[in-house]
Amino acid sequence: MKSEDGHTLNEDEIIEAMMDDVALVVLPSILFRSGQILDMKRLTEAAHKRNILIGFDLCHSIGSIPHQLHDWDVDFAFWCNYKHLNGGPGSVGALYVNTRHFGNEPGLAGWFSSKKESQFDMKHDLVHETNARAFQMGTPHVLSLAPIIGSLSMFNEIGMAKIRKKSLRLTSYMLELIDYELKDYQFKVRNPMEEESRGAHIFLEHPEAARICKALKAKQIVPDFRSPNGIRMAPVALYNTFEEVWLTVKMLKETMENEEYKQFENKRGVIA
Ligand SMILES: *Cc1c(COP(=O)(O)O)cnc(C)c1O
Repeated sequence: MKSEDGHTLNEDEIIEAMMDDVALVVLPSILFRSGQILDMKRLTEAAHKRNILIGFDLCHSIGSIPHQLHDWDVDFAFWCNYKHLNGGPGSVGALYVNTRHFGNEPGLAGWFSSKKESQFDMKHDLVHETNARAFQMGTPHVLSLAPIIGSLSMFNEIGMAKIRKKSLRLTSYMLELIDYELKDYQFKVRNPMEEESRGAHIFLEHPEAARICKALKAKQIVPDFRSPNGIRMAPVALYNTFEEVWLTVKMLKETMENEEYKQFENKRGVIA
């Protein structure tokens, strides 16, 4: 499926593409570049009406917006824990399986798919779990699970509703500042403007994006460069302040005003 504007997807077109020959739909919940939120409830209803299974990649929405996967009747979802959930790079991945699919045989099984009571019996035939654990494959990395326990307890304590509220205030404030302070410098905001379809990051385009990111890094601000000309900035609800958002845009403006970015090559580093 092609994006008409190159940045966002049209949900009507996604639904039109759910034809007879489609068995499974896998979509992102939030597009990793434009930050567009897809309406998971609507798309799930449309898929199920056509007897199609549907799953979502939640890498950019987990920890940044609330989800009601069960109520929306999503079939499955998966995500990494190292972005908004702060698990640290290399953290284990996670999977949601709708209770409707409990008991199904895992297509890609490992010894961790076993029923836990009999896992160590080391029998030749797999007796698999009858819940999401059936899809586990190998021993989870315990050291990389530990930070998630601490992080998730904070998310539970605060609740996603409050996190989402502050996140929207942070991104709204950042968008206002960008609009007001950076209007002379050719930046293009590629996010959807409506709050209900805006995720937790801002995506700017600029022809000098790679070296603008380098100039910001030199000022201790860590944006994310997306080839060929994207700058992704994610003010985090749990630990970023409104002052930091203001400082970020102020430094971005200084970088442009003083042409500081010209000290760097317009090429990305090894890690974006
Ligand atoms: C970060 C990310 C992933 C995670 O992949 P890993 O193999 O866990 O590093 C997957 N999908 C999207 C869209 C992502 O942004």
